Amino acid sequence: MADIIRLLPDHVANQIAAGEVVQRPASVVKELLENSIDAGATSIKLIVKDGGKTLIQVVDDGIGMSETDARLSFERHATSKISSAEDLFNLRTKGFRGEALASIAAIAHVDMQTKRTEAEVGVRLKIEGSKVVSQEVTATPVGTSISVKNLFFNIPARRNFLKSNQVELRHIIDEFHRVTLVHPAIEFHFYNNGSEIFNLPKTKSRQRVVHVFGNKMQDRLVPLEESTEVVSISGFVCKPEYAKKSRGEQFFFANDRFIKSPYLHHAVVSAFEGLIKPDYHPGYFLFLEVDPKSIDINIHPTKTEVKFDDEHTLYAILKSAIKHSLGQFNVAPVLDFNRDSNLDTPYAYQNKEAVIPGVTVDPSFNPFSDTTVKKTTGTQFQKVSSKGWENLYEGLVTQEKDDFSSVHIESETEIQSSLYAENDITSESGTTFQLQRKYVVSTIKSGLLVIHQNRAHQRVLYEKFLGEITLKKGVSQQLLFPLEMHFNESERILLKELQDCLRNVGFAFEDISEETVKVTAIPVMVSESRIGTVLDQLLSDYKEGFSMESISQAELLAQGLAQNLAVKSGEVLDEESQWALVNDLFGCKEPELSPAHKKTFTIISDLDLEKKLS
Ligand code: ADP
Ligand code: MG
Repeated sequence: MADIIRLLPDHVANQIAAGEVVQRPASVVKELLENSIDAGATSIKLIVKDGGKTLIQVVDDGIGMSETDARLSFERHATSKISSAEDLFNLRTKGFRGEALASIAAIAHVDMQTKRTEAEVGVRLKIEGSKVVSQEVTATPVGTSISVKNLFFNIPARRNFLKSNQVELRHIIDEFHRVTLVHPAIEFHFYNNGSEIFNLPKTKSRQRVVHVFGNKMQDRLVPLEESTEVVSISGFVCKPEYAKKSRGEQFFFANDRFIKSPYLHHAVVSAFEGLIKPDYHPGYFLFLEVDPKSIDINIHPTKTEVKFDDEHTLYAILKSAIKHSLGQFNVAPVLDFNRDSNLDTPYAYQNKEAVIPGVTVDPSFNPFSDTTVKKTTGTQFQKVSSKGWENLYEGLVTQEKDDFSSVHIESETEIQSSLYAENDITSESGTTFQLQRKYVVSTIKSGLLVIHQNRAHQRVLYEKFLGEITLKKGVSQQLLFPLEMHFNESERILLKELQDCLRNVGFAFEDISEETVKVTAIPVMVSESRIGTVLDQLLSDYKEGFSMESISQAELLAQGLAQNLAVKSGEVLDEESQWALVNDLFGCKEPELSPAHKKTFTIISDLDLEKKLS
């Protein structure tokens, strides 16, 4: 048989390589921004159209390229950044593989203009699907401008695989964050479909975080500084009270490169242990500097996964550094001269009175204490709660209580006891009690009904909100004094997307295009003091949910609101609320499952009991 192995032509090889480097428009943005930084730019402009599908352009004032270099830059394995294998162990630049431009040019229409300081004229090069279509002399400022149009024009399958413009834009913004946060000394501008969405002046690290994520960050950041032989760590963690239920802002950088490290993430989480609730996530912006020899960046084409030589030591140092600064921050206010006092007080409620719950669900509930785990008196529940393991619930914040009581008022009018029968769960005596502050137990004809209070309430609220969103009939309360809230650019993009749905459940906003958004009305079920947390949480849930994109916006929003507002495990419910929950649950279309498809209740039948007791 004849020899059958052939070398692939360059354009085919490039297309294959492109698959690794360029997954979506955001990958192009990352590569181009990194090249500009490596070229020593002090000002970088990013221009994007239609989520990057139509255009991605990066303009920098870096060193530029000569005519020959401009041509060479699009060759595979062509790089100015390393020349030998040893250099791999002493990397100071972001790029080094010499693959990005070749890959991008293989799958898009690229137009590059570049000029070095000493050159009289610049060069303009157009490449389409790896083929140079034109090269000419051009008048252009010092630096490089690369525009990438019609991404994946020659790979329709990949193009079809791209998500909506909004989703792609969000990925681009994520990459933009990752690059800009670690380069505060470089000025960045970001234009999306003609309007400027980020304008980041040259500044210091802390202010960069604030410029990127909005003024509300001012109050949240706890600085951190630690220098050892192995690593220097600087950056910020967010105060524990701003921890979020979904992973919010979590950034690790190693030698100025954004990295993902589940192991180091664990170190951060463990430093926060005891300070935040179990399923909450701390925010952090941590910059590590290690000897380039002790880190391997070349284990993945996108270079976000890295390998440190001495991870265990890093872990320990990081953990103790965080603990140290959290401790410091707890005892003494942080001295911080970077701070602009005009920007303090993110929400306008700090001086407002606490809202007293409309219905007193629990007589010992103290709305002014934020760690109230209440002791009720004389209920059946009390007997259970005195057990030692109940302490596990101590410390769980139960501020959602007031929301639940107002839910409860509304739902009471809708109670239809017949539903109980419809589901073949006929109440015998109507007795309910709470078990472990987690379950509502009710005696029914055929045995015992055990309801998971949190999941059940989520189901109830989910159906209620979904109904309101689709029927547009959410009940809202007008605020006498609109709440002023700060949202950063990416949050405002999400807010705009969600605006209609939010309006349907009872929210009203004034002018979302400004950083300070006025909230003029809120749903009746949400107390004013919690609006900030609820909206923040909703936006980050929504963002995360959308990366999965299996369900509709309305469903995601209803789910987010339900999760936020549902009564939690660990909260004490009085009998009236327990009873309302049972009824509301069986008034639902799908009472069996929570919105996240977990079981909401189970029945322990007479038969089960008999078996157990035999
Ligand atoms: P790498 O960054 O890994 O070297 P790239 O394909 O991204 O590979 O770029 C190839 C080369 O092109 C770089 O090494 C650099 O010399 C040059 N280059 C790319 N972008 C720029 C830019 N914006 N300014 C100056 N030179 C650039
Ligand atoms: Mg590069």
